[in-house]
Amino acid sequence: MSGTPGDPLEGLPFSRSRAVERFEEEMFGPKRLESLAEQARAETRKNFGRTMRLFAPLYLSNECVNTCRYCGFSKDNPIRRVTLTPEEVEGEARHLAGLGFRNVLLVSGEHPREVPVSYLVETVRRSARLFPSVAIEVAPLETAEYRDIVEAGAEGLVLYQESYDRAAYAEMHVSGPKRNFDERLGGPERGYQAGFRRIGLGVLVGLADWRRELVALAAHVSHLMKVGWKAQITLALPRLRPAAGGFQPRVGMSDRDFVRAICAFRVAFPQVGIVLSTREPAKLRNGLMDLGVTMMSAGSETDPGGYTGAGRERLHRTVRGREVALEANEEEGAEATEQFEVSDERSPEELSRELRRRGIDPVWKDWDQALAG
Ligand code: SF4
Repeated sequence: MSGTPGDPLEGLPFSRSRAVERFEEEMFGPKRLESLAEQARAETRKNFGRTMRLFAPLYLSNECVNTCRYCGFSKDNPIRRVTLTPEEVEGEARHLAGLGFRNVLLVSGEHPREVPVSYLVETVRRSARLFPSVAIEVAPLETAEYRDIVEAGAEGLVLYQESYDRAAYAEMHVSGPKRNFDERLGGPERGYQAGFRRIGLGVLVGLADWRRELVALAAHVSHLMKVGWKAQITLALPRLRPAAGGFQPRVGMSDRDFVRAICAFRVAFPQVGIVLSTREPAKLRNGLMDLGVTMMSAGSETDPGGYTGAGRERLHRTVRGREVALEANEEEGAEATEQFEVSDERSPEELSRELRRRGIDPVWKDWDQALAG
């Protein structure tokens, strides 16, 4: 059932469940933030203990056939690009495993030729030998393709809708397969059917009215909890930062509203994981550590080869779909262009120290094992 006209759920195949109503009450109702935060803290402790799961993104490729106005990897941006070989991915993975990470998120732009499903299968297979928990954040795929990736050893799928507002989505996704809103919207369910048991949903805050976006995200979470009840669902609301190509976020969300949103999601969806990336500054991340967030990235590099320098000798630019070599004077020391600037630059050790200082155990190993333990 879709919402009525003017409703944030209009045109979406989700209904307004009791949990969604609860989210709206907590988010937009009269309750003071301080008392909502207390409730969120208590729910987090009850459902997740005093733990924080740490993970690291590993960028495979920054090649992309799409043009998304907010992303530096967009096809027409003449940035430095590379796709790591499976061997190089393994090298980056070893480096992260050596730092103590047991959860890795393989991230890639959408490029069917450079990043085919067979390549994803191979990079997952190699990563799964080093990490008990491997997740992917790549273009939406068909169920059979997802199944191959699950069989290769991935257990997590991250697929943010970016925006649930169809008009904003069409405006922001200028060209490429990503323009297909419904194909993306159905991705998490296809992933569940294929066997993923950890599924991450999210919106990019800054593309459209965030109040409506958060309600739609709540409805998507609620829907997936119903149809994918065996999966652990996580959600994220990354706030957009300026990107290559000159994009400036259109709709700002204050820190106070952001904190409230995390707390409201925690109270309305007590068992859903909440992810906070290094896009947010250290001070805010510290404040949110025991208010509802259950997963954090740390020491993140958002360019392929960012951890070990792999692939630098093959850097190139893409101009109108054609590969162009770097100028001789820019080759030395050049790195692939990152997707976004990291705001919290603390190392995994520094973040762990801060967590412990606040009485929270950083969890490097598998989530379920950790809870069972
Ligand atoms: S958001 Fe994803 S699909 Fe869009 S340009 Fe960036 S990498 Fe490509």
